[in-house]
This record gives sequence, structure tokens and C-alpha cells, in this order.
Amino acid sequence: AMQGSTGSEERIVVSVRVRPLNDKELAKNDLSEWECIDDTTIMYRSNLSASERSLYPTTYTFDRVFRADCPTRQVYEAAAKEVALCVLDGINSSIFAYGQTSSGKTYTMSGITGYAVADIFNYIEKVYETKHVVASPCHSENLVLIRYFLQHKEREFVLKFSAMEIYNESVRDLLSTDSTPLRLLDDPEKGTVVEKLTEETMRDWNHFIELISFCETQRQIGETSLNEASSRSHQILRLTIESSAREFFGNDKLSSLAASVNFIDLAGSERASQTNSAGARLKEGCHINRSLLTLGTVIRKLSKGRNGHIPFRDSKLTRILQSSIGGNARTAIICTMSPARSYVEQTRNTLLFACCAK
Ligand code: ADP
Ligand code: MG
Repeated sequence: AMQGSTGSEERIVVSVRVRPLNDKELAKNDLSEWECIDDTTIMYRSNLSASERSLYPTTYTFDRVFRADCPTRQVYEAAAKEVALCVLDGINSSIFAYGQTSSGKTYTMSGITGYAVADIFNYIEKVYETKHVVASPCHSENLVLIRYFLQHKEREFVLKFSAMEIYNESVRDLLSTDSTPLRLLDDPEKGTVVEKLTEETMRDWNHFIELISFCETQRQIGETSLNEASSRSHQILRLTIESSAREFFGNDKLSSLAASVNFIDLAGSERASQTNSAGARLKEGCHINRSLLTLGTVIRKLSKGRNGHIPFRDSKLTRILQSSIGGNARTAIICTMSPARSYVEQTRNTLLFACCAK
């Protein structure tokens, strides 16, 4: 294997990241209700009332717990790196940020995505020492093949980037200015495919930055605010790595690998329980319900073992990600939370979701 063996590892790694109290919370004299006891356990500080005691635990244990002063780099190293880099072994993976709006999903996910992409570029350059960047004449002008050599073998890597947003159970391409919803097709070999989704071949780190900046400009802007819109939509950034080995002087491919790693910034988890909105907002609420609730069901069933029916097909999100969360795929879920007293209800829901995923 190119990047450590992953066979014995857990398929679903669940961690929790607490963010610091923000200025607004501090100004309200909000208190921090949660304490990280060690690297895996978080505790509710106040006493539970008698009725709460039958409903909620006082301590919750996960694969990892990150306290408020922990930098994203450390979260990445401990909770996401292995899962992201197994793409180099040809194993699909997904990394999710789950939590209520303003809990730190985007902050966490954008950092993790950057570290993972940098590591993937670095890994390829370090292990395949000699680097040749070769423009392939048979591709369009912005497609570039990057070639690397290892010992007597030649290995060729192609890094493809795509990005989509699921808003209102409708999928749009974040690398295109065309906002026409994309259709999902069932391919007998590849499984669910997003029709006409743009795939850019990444040249280098700067190109990656260009691509994610473009995606940012394409995200759905609702009539209220960007934050409002992003709280209702799921964003999937997908990096696909294809690599093939050749004999040093030959052209025959000895082996080829292809896999994707998905970075998913989920809609705010408060949407999973929202029932009281009206009109268009109600429609959005219902659909977000569907994708988040289906994801929850799918993850729960997968974590209990892979027998029985898993309802991947019940939402766009789970259909798109089926080959990257089921089967042999690896999954990391990072649940983000505010420590504030005023969010205890939502935070408990997040922690209970995280418990179910274990
Ligand atoms: P979400 O995407 O869940 O709605 P954001 O990632 O946008 O939340 O975070 C909300 C605010 O809190 C942002 O201003 C962000 O910079 C800040 N924030 C989130 N997590 C952290 C953290 N771990 N450390 C410092 N600031 C954070
Ligand atoms: Mg966000």
C-alpha cells in the first residue's frame, strides 16, 4: 500500500470539536457548559435535573474530543488525515462537518480541506521524487497531466477537483456559472454519477486556491444573508486521484488506482428538527430534513454493521456519497459545537447524533 495499511482501521471515526465562546456570547455573559476531560471525553458541567437525567448522559466519549484552544491543524492530524490520505491507496473516503449553524463547520472544514490537499501534493512530490509536469496535447488547454517517477517504475497522477452544492434537494455545480440543477444518473459501473458536473484537473496548490475561491462566489445566496443560505445547503468538495504505474521504458499500465475524497460542509443540524417554518422556507426545511435525516440513518446503520437495507437512495446527499461512505470506504465525522449555555439543547442533539454514529 502506498499510504499505510488501512484494513484494520475503523471505518467511521467520530470526533467532537468545541469552539471558543465568541464575542456575542461573551457579551451576553454566556457560560461555557462543557468541559473536555481528556482526549476522548466531554462532560456537561452543570447538574442535570431529574427529568434530564433519564434523557441525557453527563459524559460523552468519542474517538477524539478537541477543546476550544485546539488549532485546526491538530484536529486535521488526529481526526481526518488518515481518512483523507487513504485516497492515495485507492480507497474512497468522506469527511463531514456536522453541527448547528455558527458552531464552526465551515471554519473546521475549510482548514481540513486545505491541509489534506497540501499533504496530497506533498506526498506525491516527496515519494515520487522527480517531478515532470507534462501538458497532454489530447486534452483541453486547462488539463495538465502531472507525472512522477518512483525507482524503476513510472507513476502518473491526475488530480481532479469538483464541487457541488445541494440546496433544496437540488444539486448545482459550484465550478460553473450555470445554476441549472444537475441530474443524478445511475451508471452500472460507477454507481450514482452527477451528470455534467465540471471536473477540473488541478495543476498545483495555487490552482486549488483559485478553484475554491471560485466556488465561494458560486454558493447559493438566499434573500437573507450568505450565512442564512449556507445554513441550509450542503457543500461537497471532491478530489479524485487517478494514478497509474508503467514500466520504466514501456507504456503498458501495470496497475491503476482511482479514488475520491469528499469534504462535506453540512447544512446546520438545527434544520434536521425544524418543523415550524412556512412557505418556501418550509419546503427548504423539509428537504434539508430529508438529506440530513437520511445521512443520520445511513451512518447509524453503517456503524451497527453493514447488514440489511441502507437507504442511500432516499436523499441526494446520500446517493451522491454512496460509494464514499458505504462498502470499503472510510468516513470521518467531525461534530462542531459551541460550549455556550444558550445552545445546550442543540449541542446535546449534536452529541447524540455523534454517539449514534459510533
Ligand atoms: P458554521 O459553518 O457552523 O455556521 P462557522 O465555521 O462559520 O460556523 O463559524 C462561526 C464563527 O465562529 C466564524 O466567525 C468562525 O471564524 C468562528 N469559529 C468557528 N470555530 C472556531 C474555532 N475553533 N476557533 C476560533 N473561531 C472559530
Ligand atoms: Mg458554514
